[in-house]
Amino acid sequence: MKATSKSYVSKTVRELKPSGIRRFFDLAAGMEGVISLGVGEPDFVTPWPVREAAIRSIEEGYTSYTPNAGLPELREEITKYVKNRYHVEYSPSEVIVTVGASSAIDTAMRTILDPGDEVIVVEPCFVSYGPMVTLAGGVPVPVQALKENDFKILPSQIEAAITDKTKALMICFPNNPTGTLLNKQELEALAEVIKKHDLLVISDEIYAELTYDEEFTSMASLPGMRERTILVNGFSKAFAMTGWRLGFVCAPKEILKEMLKVHQYALMCASTTSQYAGLEALRNGREDVDKMVKSYRLRRNFIVNSFNEMGLTCHMPGGAFYAFPSIESTGLSSQEFAERLLKEEGVAVVPGDVFGESGEGHIRCSYATSMEELREAMKRIKRFINSL
Ligand code: PLP
Repeated sequence: MKATSKSYVSKTVRELKPSGIRRFFDLAAGMEGVISLGVGEPDFVTPWPVREAAIRSIEEGYTSYTPNAGLPELREEITKYVKNRYHVEYSPSEVIVTVGASSAIDTAMRTILDPGDEVIVVEPCFVSYGPMVTLAGGVPVPVQALKENDFKILPSQIEAAITDKTKALMICFPNNPTGTLLNKQELEALAEVIKKHDLLVISDEIYAELTYDEEFTSMASLPGMRERTILVNGFSKAFAMTGWRLGFVCAPKEILKEMLKVHQYALMCASTTSQYAGLEALRNGREDVDKMVKSYRLRRNFIVNSFNEMGLTCHMPGGAFYAFPSIESTGLSSQEFAERLLKEEGVAVVPGDVFGESGEGHIRCSYATSMEELREAMKRIKRFINSL
């Protein structure tokens, strides 16, 4: 039998669509003078003491594997951090240090799902959630947070999507791409539905440090939720450490013990050098985080006001570093808008539809970009709107 290369690849993987963000950035690659509001990562370099700690660990010869779950002192530090910042208590044996929040979510899905199990995924959302559910043999069930609710998901919407196959709810607040934050009361209302239907929650709290008006509440801190929450967090966004690939997951012992098997067979452990960097970030990184948050807040205010002034309605995002203005008034689809804006004015943004159906009619603009570039980008976007 003559095999084609296609037949070597699983049907599941063949049918996965590549990330809409990547497709768009291939267009931008090679163009000169482009200002990118596209990438979801801090424009800051990792704070120097954190880099120095990593260098020191190499100099001292810490170059072998760590325990599968991560360095004991780092896990200990993570438990202190989660307790002090988010008011949830875990023991170090309830923590795994992961390869970014990404591997924490992937490991969670592979641990909890049997074939055909459903995971309700609140959209618009980070592009990986649905595919991670699919790759773990589950079925993602998208539920749309709506712009008329400032992209806050309502408990009634979740309840309406629950079937006897539903295993878990996947949420992320502050949200990528909308920046929306749910306050404590709103999370509590969601938690009631979760408890009533005996579901798990995978709570991606990667943007927890980046909130600007209201305090962040962790899903796991709510009454009766610690035992049914897989809390995902990491170093990428708060500590400007995207390239170090370091995250963590906290979960009740019985779940974590099973997750550790998946993590151990698939990944062995997170990078040793990165773990030493993470240790320093948690021990001494607070001042740097506060400085970065202060800077993001100024940029958020500037970019959101600019969009509203030029007639692109934009709600004030409570967290993360994304503005998600509506471009409906232009009559263009989000794909058309983003492609034309890139070609005509050299500004790269992400079309909202790549994050889910209710993202259509919007664009995602990251303001983790210098003020100077943001000013120039806003000038160009305004010129583009006026030319339509
Ligand atoms: N979760 C969300 C909501 C994100 O926006 C991202 C990255 O953009 C990630 C997870 C991935 O984070 P990490 O770099 O820790 O894997």
